[in-house]
Amino acid sequence: MSGPTFGSSGVRGPFATVATPELALRLGRAVGATRRRVVVGRDARTTGPLLERALVAGLLAGGADVATCGVLPTPALAHAARRFDAGVVVTASHNPAPDNGFKLWEPDGRAFGRAERAEVERLLAAPPASAAWDRVGAVSEEPGAVEAHARRVLDITGPLPRRLRVVLDCGNGAASRESPALLRALGCDVITLNAQPDGHFPGRPSEPSEENLAALRQAVVAAGADLGLAHDGDADRCMAVTHAGRYVQGDELLLLFAQDHAGKTIACPVDASRAIEDASGCRVVRTRVGDAYVSERLAEVGGAFGGEASGAWIFPEMSWCPDGPLAAAMVCRMVATRGPLESLVAALPRYPLWRHSWRMAPEEIEPTMRRFAAALADGKVTTLDGVKADYDEGWVLVRPSGTEPKVRVTVEATDAAGLEALKAKVARVLPFR
Ligand code: MG
Repeated sequence: MSGPTFGSSGVRGPFATVATPELALRLGRAVGATRRRVVVGRDARTTGPLLERALVAGLLAGGADVATCGVLPTPALAHAARRFDAGVVVTASHNPAPDNGFKLWEPDGRAFGRAERAEVERLLAAPPASAAWDRVGAVSEEPGAVEAHARRVLDITGPLPRRLRVVLDCGNGAASRESPALLRALGCDVITLNAQPDGHFPGRPSEPSEENLAALRQAVVAAGADLGLAHDGDADRCMAVTHAGRYVQGDELLLLFAQDHAGKTIACPVDASRAIEDASGCRVVRTRVGDAYVSERLAEVGGAFGGEASGAWIFPEMSWCPDGPLAAAMVCRMVATRGPLESLVAALPRYPLWRHSWRMAPEEIEPTMRRFAAALADGKVTTLDGVKADYDEGWVLVRPSGTEPKVRVTVEATDAAGLEALKAKVARVLPFR
């Protein structure tokens, strides 16, 4: 029986068809066959308790000893994993409520790499025999993982130099317990929204996107708060809202975090704005798109910070796992020391951006990519992820979609005329509108 493919952020999909109890059991046996001691946690989804139990049964049958943490943010589980041989979180991140899934963590907080994932897939397809009756694993509870993670956040950020009023939207997710308490300990007056873990996500969809945070934006203004913060379902993400109720775009928050690391090396994907190079004061290393690739590259170069506009922020002082609660604390520190987000964002360079995608037959994607590669050969080309061509006036990125038969193009330029010139290059390969 063949298993699903594990991507860089694990596997996730509908409970009914992808994240099934059968998969949980087989995944447990696969991981338990190679790792002696495994720590397990989950987000607040309705199918979490049953998938966790099936996973734990598999791990024990595989011969691993298991410690369970219950509901906690993914970064808190990744932090706990440092005292184990691996960590597994039962989570579908920011996906809709019917979904669930699994993320696999190394002890240093890095997601399982390509070789480790291939090994898991091999063992899923050909499950190892159960351990003998006197070799099966033991299960225990791991209390205090959330508190240990929160203490580490406070060690890293230190107390705030002044009190802030913060509205925090936990999105009924896994940080509903940790983040409010953490921000209060940091020195904030905290008003919470959706801070009851609830796998039906009654408050809002789990992704902390601009359209999903209308209530937060209103609440920040109504409360006269200094800022608003929001997590996704498993709280490896954090996004922010200014005191005026304006959603801070991912690229803007990425640049603000980068400015806090001026003079150091940071990592971000090829699709992030060139403003990072122009206005951060950092040496910027570009990576493939996906927070796991940012972590991997950040570790290789020994960088000080990594981030992706999706809301994944990586601080190596904690671990290589994107950390929503730590990012929330860092944004508070930024506002307390540098000033209101509204003015910090207003001071950032603003480059015009254009995105377009074309649906096509799967067999047309490869030839289309080749035509783009030829058309963009007059730029400084990198093929880290799709084809990216840098020019004086901006850049063009062409990538096949990972999930649909589509080719996506992103164009950014330092001014409107540059944007039109670069769009004209794109139009010579594929017409649009
Ligand atoms: Mg997530």
